[in-house]
Amino acid sequence: MKQSLQKIFLLLMSFVLLFNCSYAARNNVDCKKSQTVNNTQTEKKEVVIGVLPLGDFNQNLITVIKAQITIFYDVKVVVLPMLALPQTSYLKSRDRYVADSLLDFILLQQALKEKNNTPNHCDYIVGLTEKDICTSHNNSSSWGVFGLGFMPGKACVISTLRLKKNANYDLLTIRLIKVVLHELGHNFGLDHCKTPGCMMRDAEGTIKSVDNEKMDICKVCKGKLNK
Ligand SMILES: [Zn+2]
Ligand SMILES: [Zn+2]
Repeated sequence: MKQSLQKIFLLLMSFVLLFNCSYAARNNVDCKKSQTVNNTQTEKKEVVIGVLPLGDFNQNLITVIKAQITIFYDVKVVVLPMLALPQTSYLKSRDRYVADSLLDFILLQQALKEKNNTPNHCDYIVGLTEKDICTSHNNSSSWGVFGLGFMPGKACVISTLRLKKNANYDLLTIRLIKVVLHELGHNFGLDHCKTPGCMMRDAEGTIKSVDNEKMDICKVCKGKLNK
C-alpha cells in the first residue's frame, strides 16, 4: 500500500492526459462508520480490492476507477460481476437506498462467496451505484450522501447521483475518483483530515468541498497509511 513519489507523479500525469480540463473536487456528506475488524495481518500479502457495480453502472467509469485505485493505493483491483440493488435497502418515501444497509449487503454477499470458495477473494469491496444513497446524519435518518465507508473496515459504497450536479462527464469522473479514494481511505483506517486540499477532508455536505480538494492525500495521511 506504499505510494512512491513516482506513482503519485504518474497518477497526476494520467489525469492531465485523461482530463484536459480544470477540475474542482467533490463533495460528500459522507462517509464513515465503525466496523469491528480483526486486524491480524501479520504477513505481508497482496491487497485485493473488488469493484462491485450495484445495478447498471457506466462501464467506462468502472474502468477508470479500477485504474486509479490500482495506481493510487498500489493494490490489485478486480471488477466483480454486477449485483442488483437489494430492495430491502430501498427507502421508498425518499427514493433512496440506505447506504448502511448496502454495506451490510456487500459484506454478506462477499461472505457467501468466500464460503462457497468462489474465485475473486477480495480484502475490500467498493460498491458503485447510480442511485441515490443516504445515511443517518444531522438528525435525519435519510441524509443523502456521496459515499459511505467503514472506518476501518472492508466495504464502502459510492453513488454518482449527487456527483452529477452541474458536472460534465470529465468532472463527474474526477469527483467519483476522489470520493472512491476517500472512502477507501476510511476503510484503510484514515479519519477526516483538516489539511487544506487533502482528499481526506470532510466534505461537510457540499460538492464544493470535493471540488476544492486535490486528488491526493496530505503527508500526515500518507504517514498514517504507510504505518
Ligand atoms: Zn469521509
Ligand atoms: Zn490529510
